[in-house]
Amino acid sequence: MDLNYERKNIYKNCSKQDLQNIFDFCEGYKDFLNKGKTEREACAYAVKLCEENGYKPFTFAEKLKVGDKRYFLNRDKSIFIVKIGTEDIEKEGVKIMAAHVDSPRLDLKPNPLYEDAEIAYLKTHYYGGIKKYQWTTIPLALHGVVMLRGGKKMQVCVGEDESDPVFCITDILPHLSAEQNAKPIATAISGEALNAMVGGVYDSEDEENSSVKNAILKLLNQKYGITEVDFQCSELCFVPAGVARDVGFDKAFLSSYGHDDKVCAYPELKAILDSDDTHTVIAVFADKEETGSDGVTGMQSRVFSDVLNTVCASLNANPMQVRYKSKCISADVNAGYDPHFAEAYEKRNSAYLSCGVDVSKYTGSRGKGGTSDANAELVAYFRDLFDDNGVVWQIGEIGKIDVGGGGTVAKFIANMGIDTLDIGVAVLSMHAPYEIVSKADVYEIYKAMLVFCNGKN
Ligand code: MN
Ligand code: MN
Repeated sequence: MDLNYERKNIYKNCSKQDLQNIFDFCEGYKDFLNKGKTEREACAYAVKLCEENGYKPFTFAEKLKVGDKRYFLNRDKSIFIVKIGTEDIEKEGVKIMAAHVDSPRLDLKPNPLYEDAEIAYLKTHYYGGIKKYQWTTIPLALHGVVMLRGGKKMQVCVGEDESDPVFCITDILPHLSAEQNAKPIATAISGEALNAMVGGVYDSEDEENSSVKNAILKLLNQKYGITEVDFQCSELCFVPAGVARDVGFDKAFLSSYGHDDKVCAYPELKAILDSDDTHTVIAVFADKEETGSDGVTGMQSRVFSDVLNTVCASLNANPMQVRYKSKCISADVNAGYDPHFAEAYEKRNSAYLSCGVDVSKYTGSRGKGGTSDANAELVAYFRDLFDDNGVVWQIGEIGKIDVGGGGTVAKFIANMGIDTLDIGVAVLSMHAPYEIVSKADVYEIYKAMLVFCNGKN
């Protein structure tokens, strides 16, 4: 009997085969990261994988039955993947996994295009919690959609192909930085300074109205059929350009934009697709988590309960009873312990890279403000489930008390009367353009989700 609790590093005493499984799984994850940088792209990726695995589009009018596999794509920006199992959902409940697929980024303002000093720029309004200085002097790609008059939707993705140009936000040179250097880091770069360079060539065919801005508009019109007003009916954003890369001589870690929260979304998607047919499972890709989970595609939207109610009604189950019996993994990242900033962490209660899935009993800030704080009974359920199935897990809080804090979608699902626990992956440099996770943890959360889908209630 182990009287002491000890954290376990997965890479320590890891067999060659286990290491191979970890690395193989992460190749698939890299593909998801590279092709799913925005919530729309991540949902499109999920739809493709769902359809390849026999899932069909869901409608609220449909009566679902045992064995049905459906996905509900909510306005292209969030998705609910539903698998009806053989077990009675009034007795067994539904297994729910909810990750988010929006990540911090720079959205374009509605009127973004202007010219200054004979350079064309696009103005941005940052989305989510970012450290603004990190978004200057890095290559950026433009992703999103523009709605043309009449309902035509133009997909935009510039800066990811090797032959594509990229975009860039400038910073002041160190020679002239005396004033900036004296500022607190939060104000060193202002939100209004996050304007990306997008052009500098004049339109030689139009000498009278010649300007760089007009030349860019002409170029955009030729490529996408858009005019300046169409920016107002668009969702375009700058994200870091480039692909996920292995980190370290031994490739133990993986660096990418958007680990928060694709690192939970991808394993969740794989887990529901790989799970057996006994339990009813719903996997959620939520949008708008980074701005508070509001809106029609956020986790606070009624759409989730609409989907759950449709499942209950189809199976002639009482929705209140089903919610009471259901369990949910709120799958989101947590702050990984970073020895360079040790003062922000409480060593005994932090999540460490490569030490397995991170269980957070509660999130929030100050005196646990704004958290659902899972019951001991629920934490114990997952402890037993993970221990019995060889899933490596650890428990972690986000940093020291009163240093900061954070939240997830957990409370919105718990508020519906569903037992919900935060389980995720430890991340370094969270919300930076290039975040880092341990590949071992990525594979471990897949294993955790799979045993959750297949395990008894
Ligand atoms: Mn997150
Ligand atoms: Mn986040």
